[in-house]
Amino acid sequence: MMAETTFYDLVDNLETYLEYQRDEGVQRLEVDRTVLAELARMPEAGPLSVAEVPASTPIPVDFQSMEEIAAHVSACRNCPLCAGRTHTVPGEGKADSPDILFIGEGPGADEDAQGRPFVGKAGQLLTKMIEAMGYQREQVFIANIVKCRPPNNRAPLPEEMEACLPYLRQQIGLIKPRTMVGMGATAIKGLLGKTAGITRLRGTWQEYEGIRLMPTFHPSYLLRDPSKKKDVWQDLQRVLKELGKEPPSRKK
Ligand code: URA
Ligand code: SF4
Repeated sequence: MMAETTFYDLVDNLETYLEYQRDEGVQRLEVDRTVLAELARMPEAGPLSVAEVPASTPIPVDFQSMEEIAAHVSACRNCPLCAGRTHTVPGEGKADSPDILFIGEGPGADEDAQGRPFVGKAGQLLTKMIEAMGYQREQVFIANIVKCRPPNNRAPLPEEMEACLPYLRQQIGLIKPRTMVGMGATAIKGLLGKTAGITRLRGTWQEYEGIRLMPTFHPSYLLRDPSKKKDVWQDLQRVLKELGKEPPSRKK
């Protein structure tokens, strides 16, 4: 396969280069961690042809627990995203009526490697925001619209979202969060079907199945444009107010 050839050529070249450097007496080398992490990944499986995409199996509508959902997700092949995943990422946190359920888009490289949501750079920022609100990560629930990593971190396609949403919907039904925060356009489109820009919707309470849902920017967007952090902080304060809480004073 083309992508694979390129990948192995790249590794070969890198090896040759490093051997050359060593022979030249070079003893230290600075390498960006993200580059290393990318190199450690096997090449992305190419898109499956239609004939290879397995027929989807119906998702049960009566899951009784988060563990049951996670087990089903781990074996799921209901959309082509299954082909590129290392681990499924069902979500984690307090599954029994947490104050807040945070919903993102889908796993990135770090999440795919670990099987856990929001553990990469965006995740570190989300964790900080959760802590600034006065919670620990374990006290809220964190999930995504799709449970498998889209190739090159692209946004999930509508049909992939549709295939995967029965899991999140049932997770929400079982978790019964007091409020939800939808981070980014994909989360809002997935849950509400609304395609209005996140810039317009953010900060305005929405409702999903009787649960208040606050749309806000995705933490990855904040990494690219930190000036939007204050908007998100306002949105999160609206959530705290709804919960009858206040952020701990000295934080931000
Ligand atoms: N971005 C997401 O939308 N979800 C994750 O789990 C990580 C990054
Ligand atoms: Fe199944 Fe969702 Fe993964 Fe697609 S993204 S294979 S629907 S778990």
